[in-house]
Amino acid sequence: FQFSDLALIEPILTAIKKAGYQNPTPIQQMAIPHLLKGSDLLGCAQTGTGKTAAFALPILNNIVQNKLFAGPKQVSCLILTPTRELALQIHENFKTYSANLNLHINVVYGGVGINPQIQALRSGSDVLIATPGRLLDLISQKSVSLQKVKIFVLDEADRMLDMGFIQDIRKVLFMMPKERQTLLFSATMPPEIEKLASTMLVKPIKVEA
Ligand code: AMP
Repeated sequence: FQFSDLALIEPILTAIKKAGYQNPTPIQQMAIPHLLKGSDLLGCAQTGTGKTAAFALPILNNIVQNKLFAGPKQVSCLILTPTRELALQIHENFKTYSANLNLHINVVYGGVGINPQIQALRSGSDVLIATPGRLLDLISQKSVSLQKVKIFVLDEADRMLDMGFIQDIRKVLFMMPKERQTLLFSATMPPEIEKLASTMLVKPIKVEA
């Protein structure tokens, strides 16, 4: 099973090759074909399994193939993650895989000046990686809108809950169109996460890694 067996566009395959990846990891093999078809996904996965590429590669592919490009201050794909470190890591991964694509990939998180982030959001975000608090600040000052989100990823959902972000997540969910592709990743699946998943996801495929 090779990357070239997955129906990914050539510029993405070239970027994967350049990153030195030989074969897709199990979670990538399980998730990518379904995500390319637009399915929702419930993923029970830890960091280190290749989880990020499992969602980043099909998301980039779908944005390009379906021309889901974002207008000014709009977002096509939103990725919500609990910490600045994770946000930066996911951003690095997206930059690597999209090196041969002409996309706007932005990242916003708290604890740093907001003005450069406002500036970056102006031209639109085909992919926006964000931590919850800073995202809500930027929305309330009208620097970004979630009204045109087509793909939403909730990363490390269990950690989000532990860190007290559940109300922020609910606010964010409320601001996005109902019709969209949604992915939820969590290392553990306590009842609260199962409940959140059942309200967010429609007929999700379930993968474990
Ligand atoms: P993640 O689980 O997303 O944090 O990924 C863990 C590490 O594995 C990252 O450094 C990735 O760059 C790397 N990685 C992801 N997919 C592959 C793959 N198919 N082959 C080799 N390395 C990979």
